[in-house]
Amino acid sequence: MKGSDRMGHMPAAGTWQACPQCGEHHHRLEWAPWQICPSCGYYQRLTAQQRLTQLVDQGTFQPLPDLAMTAATTGFPDYAAKLATAQTKTGLAEAIVVGQAAIDQQVCVIGIMDSHFMMGSLNQVVGQKICQLFEVGSQRQLPVVLVTASGGARMQEGLAALTQMSLTLAAKSAFDAQGGFSINVLTDPTMGGVTASFALQADILLAEPAATIGFAGRRVIEQTDQVQLPADFQSAEQLLTRGMLDAVVPRAQLKAQLAQLLRLGGKSA
Ligand SMILES: [Zn+2]
Repeated sequence: MKGSDRMGHMPAAGTWQACPQCGEHHHRLEWAPWQICPSCGYYQRLTAQQRLTQLVDQGTFQPLPDLAMTAATTGFPDYAAKLATAQTKTGLAEAIVVGQAAIDQQVCVIGIMDSHFMMGSLNQVVGQKICQLFEVGSQRQLPVVLVTASGGARMQEGLAALTQMSLTLAAKSAFDAQGGFSINVLTDPTMGGVTASFALQADILLAEPAATIGFAGRRVIEQTDQVQLPADFQSAEQLLTRGMLDAVVPRAQLKAQLAQLLRLGGKSA
């Protein structure tokens, strides 16, 4: 169902799930409702649908109009097949879902990236949907909430993907010039061209605990520079101590925190 904002499904998972961090097996009811490991506190990466369920008031999400837009074709081998597989696996048209919704009755436009779709990578469609988010925010005079989860620019789209870094920033600047209010929630992982463009550009920057946020990955830096990086390198907590984030917010408190910020900074609907 290409080109739609159909909601994603939970990736195939059994009743019992092993924690990627500590290896303990827990029943899905133990992971619920926040998808946090009961043994070690590890945060599972959420699908866009799970994130929506956790953050927005039930029944309030209305997808933004579809864009007449397809992924850029660069002749990258097997790209079309990979896209089709990602669409089938996630039930999403692309790696982001955009719409208008209410968060504890605070109306906003919201974009949620999904790392289960080709690692949430930024391509032509994702970039244009982020631009749409800011354009609609301006038109409807609503604040923008953007939840990032991405490995960076999508290499299969080459320059078309990299161009989205500047296009999204231009859309954000236009939104700012009209007095728009925005909040980004950085989740694991937020990397590469996404970090280097729109992810760290918002009035308020929140992150989930232990989220990896950075540009180049740890292994790339360690191998290139022949250095040993500290354990907390590129973690949300480290970025907070460097003044690059406003707060690290536990998942269970995120909705209430967003609603409070929207009440303070957003225009009431
Ligand atoms: Zn665990």
